[in-house]
Amino acid sequence: MTSSPNHRPGPTVGRFAPSPTGPLHLGSLVAAVGSYAMTKRSGGLWLLRMEDLDTPRVVPGMADDILRTLEALGFSWDGEIVRQSRRSAAYEAALERLLAAGHVYPCGCSRAEIARAATAPHDGEGELAYPNICRHGLPPGKELRSYRVKVPADPITFHDLVMGEKSFDLARICGDFVVKRADGLFAYQLAVVVDDADQGVTQVVRGADLLSSTPRQILLQRLLDCDTPTYAHLPLVTGPGGAKLSKRDNAVSLVAGLDLAVRGGELLLAALRFLGQEPPSFLAGAPGAEVLAWAAASFDVAKVPTQSSPLHDVR
Ligand code: GLU
Repeated sequence: MTSSPNHRPGPTVGRFAPSPTGPLHLGSLVAAVGSYAMTKRSGGLWLLRMEDLDTPRVVPGMADDILRTLEALGFSWDGEIVRQSRRSAAYEAALERLLAAGHVYPCGCSRAEIARAATAPHDGEGELAYPNICRHGLPPGKELRSYRVKVPADPITFHDLVMGEKSFDLARICGDFVVKRADGLFAYQLAVVVDDADQGVTQVVRGADLLSSTPRQILLQRLLDCDTPTYAHLPLVTGPGGAKLSKRDNAVSLVAGLDLAVRGGELLLAALRFLGQEPPSFLAGAPGAEVLAWAAASFDVAKVPTQSSPLHDVR
């Protein structure tokens, strides 16, 4: 089944949703620039959400560093910042609805049990497809650990504004997936769907590392009767020769000692070129806010490449 994007009246609502598990990095900078430019190009609202849900991975001080870095780069956002750490009641309510409708079930399997029972990883990310052991009730002797959502047998198909037509067979890729974890935390997939719906988000622009999360989120939107936003997944920033960038080499942060008042504009120009845009030469040396104003007026999604590549580093 193909998901048709919503056509709700009113402005485009985009968002940037960093996780404060480290400083902003080149990849998240590209996501911020892309989502800001695409939202503002259509006269929309650009929201900021701090994805501090996974508390064991949150690094103290990073949320603040990310916000101050964005400001120093010249970004400004609309409305209040939403923090996932304060939204447990909304996630709980969604879980209750899914449980009551029979879409979600308690699971008693540990990681080790799943590794023994599952077939080899399918999607190249090392993910094991859960063989749906507890789907029809907790087997005797097992205790509740997590909650999983039932995935359909048919693939989920959607149109991505950058990557084109995409289809994912969730049953094969991941099986029934976790919406509330064994440590009691809500899973990213559920939280994002609830937040995007509650914030009225109509357009999701983010890195292609989250492309395989999109069919999971579309499934949850359908089960929760939420509209499906439009999606644009941006190419990933790699090191030379396609190598994965280390977090350290990658940091774009005030804490990392970067003088954004001086280098911010250049960094944004590099991010825009990485996204296939052709900013005019008179912007060389311009402050970040001016570069962003150009991007908001001129960004063309049709020029964004699909392939990951290195970003010419100007730091
Ligand atoms: N918090 C996620 C990240 O920093 C982004 C989630 C999203 O955009 O949906 O990678």
